[in-house]
Amino acid sequence: MVHLTECQSAAYLDDTYLTAVTTTVAATGRQDDGAPWVAVRRNIFHPQGGGQPADRGWLDTCEVTPLRDAATGLVVVRARDEQGAGLEGLTEGDQVQARIDTELRLSHAALHTAGHLIEAAGRSRGWVLAGNTHFPGQARIEFTAQETDTGLADPQGRQEAAASLLRWVTAKVADDLPVTVDHDAEGLRIVRLGDVHAAPCGGTHVRGLADLAEITISAVKVKKGRVRVSYSAAHGPLR
Ligand SMILES: [Zn+2]
Repeated sequence: MVHLTECQSAAYLDDTYLTAVTTTVAATGRQDDGAPWVAVRRNIFHPQGGGQPADRGWLDTCEVTPLRDAATGLVVVRARDEQGAGLEGLTEGDQVQARIDTELRLSHAALHTAGHLIEAAGRSRGWVLAGNTHFPGQARIEFTAQETDTGLADPQGRQEAAASLLRWVTAKVADDLPVTVDHDAEGLRIVRLGDVHAAPCGGTHVRGLADLAEITISAVKVKKGRVRVSYSAAHGPLR
């Protein structure tokens, strides 16, 4: 199978806030179920992955869902309406308008960035990241805690841990730490929150921590030896 990724740029990684572009069709194909897919050259669509949900978007007037095509490595889109003929007829080189749901993108970017920040808050207590989910309504970061962190055994201790994490997070938001991206020696994409956090990541993020609003830590629970921190966050007004 030909690897086609050189015919597509991941514009969503370069600019979270780029929500519409005119581009061209880079490739077309069909999925195993027969549904047509289209890959665009300048791709603004974030596929589901790394704990972050997929964007909602449109190719011309056809509502689409992006996903990573395993065979080609491309981010492709397929019509949300399975019966819709919206993508039939498009061929390589055709000019198309690509657009995403801005509000949803910003919501995902805020939740995702807040997740990194909560991970950093947990690590500041000696906890080690064990898992993460940045889906709206069920966002949570999971850690393995230090055995010395005995306060987590009772409800009051867990409440105090939640309050302490939130204080740490709120201070970093007040400092408006910049969110930046670079690549390490192996070409891995590293996202940084000021100097408090660095992690390999292929998600979308806000520009600075002051873009985050309404951060809450709704619960700290201990399950099967893991500390689960449930949280929510929104994107503040565009600056
Ligand atoms: Zn990330």
